[in-house]
Amino acid sequence: MKKKLSSVLILAAFAASPALHAAGVTDAMIENDAKSGNDILSYGMGTQGQRYSPLTQVNSKTVARLVPAWSFSFGGEKQRGQESQPMIHNGKMFVTGSYSRIYALDARTGAKLWKYEHRLPEGIMPCCDVVNRGAALYGNLVIFGTLDAQLVALNQDTGEVVWKEKIDDYAAGYSNTAAPLIAKGLLLTGVAGGEFGVVGRIEARNPLTGTMVWSRPTVEGHMGYKYDKDGKKTETGISGTTNKTWPGELWKTGGASTWLGGTYDAKTGMAYFGTGNPSPWNSHLRPGDNLFSSSTVAVDVLTGDIKWHYQTTPHDGWDYDGVNEFITYEQNGKRLGGKADRNGFFYVMDATTGKLENAFPFVKKITWATGIDLKTGRPNFVAANRPGDPTKGADAAKGNTVFSAPSFLGGKNQQPMAYSPKTNLFYVPANEWGMEIWNEPVSYKKGAAYLGAGFTIKTLNDDYIGALRAMDPVTGKIVWEIKNPAPLWGGVMTTAGDLVFYGTPEGFLKAVDSKTGKEMWKFQTGSGVVAPPVTWMDGDTQYVSVVSGWGGAVPLWGGDVAKKVNYLEQGGSVWVFKLSSK
Ligand code: CA
Repeated sequence: MKKKLSSVLILAAFAASPALHAAGVTDAMIENDAKSGNDILSYGMGTQGQRYSPLTQVNSKTVARLVPAWSFSFGGEKQRGQESQPMIHNGKMFVTGSYSRIYALDARTGAKLWKYEHRLPEGIMPCCDVVNRGAALYGNLVIFGTLDAQLVALNQDTGEVVWKEKIDDYAAGYSNTAAPLIAKGLLLTGVAGGEFGVVGRIEARNPLTGTMVWSRPTVEGHMGYKYDKDGKKTETGISGTTNKTWPGELWKTGGASTWLGGTYDAKTGMAYFGTGNPSPWNSHLRPGDNLFSSSTVAVDVLTGDIKWHYQTTPHDGWDYDGVNEFITYEQNGKRLGGKADRNGFFYVMDATTGKLENAFPFVKKITWATGIDLKTGRPNFVAANRPGDPTKGADAAKGNTVFSAPSFLGGKNQQPMAYSPKTNLFYVPANEWGMEIWNEPVSYKKGAAYLGAGFTIKTLNDDYIGALRAMDPVTGKIVWEIKNPAPLWGGVMTTAGDLVFYGTPEGFLKAVDSKTGKEMWKFQTGSGVVAPPVTWMDGDTQYVSVVSGWGGAVPLWGGDVAKKVNYLEQGGSVWVFKLSSK
């Protein structure tokens, strides 16, 4: 009876705009996602990834009244890292959990509508915990990637599998953890597995059927393809020029994985994907820039053609994956993009041409380069701070060990930043840490770690690792910062209500003033937050939500830092908040 009543209410609400909702989630709705506060249809709260909400009911004056509306446990023994961003549509929340699980919940009550648990084979090889970052919505489908490198599309209402497609061979180290991106009616995905010598690429599929449309490798030398309706593939040219920036055969297992997915700007018609480290980590094995690793790659959404690329760490020797999100924004009538790279520098690019406009550090200690030359766009390397060649030097098995900052976990890692068109500031969840790193001999073996390097992560300061920083992209200055003892690993959201929301591994979801950084509100979620918050409006109520569950790469790879935070407890739940009436 209750169910029927709510269906009637939902139908009544949709009666005002029946055409908009008749076909489920449309391209027009996704392109309008950043402006519409009523649903969340893309990872990034808009395909540009700004994570800016126009909603103002929860604001710097009212946020003190923010209280829990409901909480839902992902259940089971499978907790581990929860890095997922919830999606909201048609009164439902779609949220993924660790171990390739997805849940549909009533967005007002938290009541479970359905759950899908992907059956994972033995021998999956996710590098950095069994995480998932979210789903995509299209038509009546909810689509997400799995740890065994598949894509699964489910009926939003019933949870039934509509299609399932293999991306690649998990036994060769391929996996998928990013939220897919929908742009111009295509489903765009990448691959993870740079630590196993996979070949990075961007792929486009028909989101309704899962059939391939085009594929574009992000390692120079590999062939791109387009596919006709019957699945017949045609060559569309090699990425770059074979052996121009890679020696010998190494490009064949060259990494440059697109593991964090991409953003899309309808104004430029391009999708922007970051790429990970060249494989293996030992840079002495692969002289050259090793395109298109540790870069931002801008592709034409309809063809997959690379329109421009910018390599943040040429000839990467530190695992400075350039996967970080490229967020486009408007400044003085110009379309720009901002990126806080794992290598510690923040880059401002012309989003149309890829021309470097500005570059500055967003962390306080960087050892591998003294800065970025704005004329050439290249880093000023500190040659002595590259980990040594294991065939030379005092210790022939290891090469010279160097101390590097940032650590390979990065000035920023997977945790997405936010941009506010109201303050013109980027809110960057940064970390200050370093590492001892050395190289070792290595050769490629399918399904085996392909690093050729060893490392230990070190703290730099006694009192903090994480720092939420408001960065001015024009001046390159830190406008304000909030230090945090544990490394920040959740994302950031900002709102027209003059607030910035972010979570901490210590378990708090916090709201701070977007202009000053003053803390306005916090709530203990019961486990560490390593996921980005979201907000939406349902009727006359603004909701705020975040997933809680400590994990991710830090406990697995964090060396001395992992020891420092090993008191943090795991979890797996989603929290939803609204203002109390008084
Ligand atoms: Ca990597």
